[in-house]
Amino acid sequence: IVCFIGRSNVGKSSLIKALFSLAPEVEVRISKTPGHTKKMNFFKVGKHFTVVDMPGYGFRAPEDFADMVETYLKERSNLRRTFLLVDSVVGIQKTDNIAIEMCEEFALPYVIVLTKIDKSSKGHLLKQVLEIQKFVSTKTQGCFPQLFAVSAVTFSGIHLLRCFIANVTGNLD
Ligand code: GDP
Repeated sequence: IVCFIGRSNVGKSSLIKALFSLAPEVEVRISKTPGHTKKMNFFKVGKHFTVVDMPGYGFRAPEDFADMVETYLKERSNLRRTFLLVDSVVGIQKTDNIAIEMCEEFALPYVIVLTKIDKSSKGHLLKQVLEIQKFVSTKTQGCFPQLFAVSAVTFSGIHLLRCFIANVTGNLD
């Protein structure tokens, strides 16, 4: 199992669709409760993927934290990697920090994925990458040092990320 976690609208469903685009037999459907859910929501995609949606607004940390811990611990034995999605346009936000702290606290191996890289200029992207790399190397323990920068629109970076996932899971099915 691998887990994709990130704020609502960071591009989780789009990324998963892009990752699976060469395997059309895998049905990608991420049901979303529309609107104002304030809880962290878990979705299963196929057998091997879990998507965790973190609404940034009105996030009730204590309760959700408990839910999250429980779910993680249940899956932990076969949770190979957690992918934390960060929007390349806005960089690391408060909600992302909550997720980072959680990964650190539970010593989960996690990887930061920068999404929507087609939306920002090369200069802006480079600035974000350097900032996040500095943050990762100085402030984190469990984070994989390499960032993956992707676009679900141009498919930039998708192949590399797919290879990485195949490598950590042993396959992509
Ligand atoms: P989720 O809530 O994290 O599952 O986010 P979605 O995958 O639903 O994406 C949220 C919005 O961002 C949608 O309008 C997508 O079309 C858009 N989006 C997602 N990925 C990309 C990307 O790589 N590039 C661009 N330009 N837009 C994207």
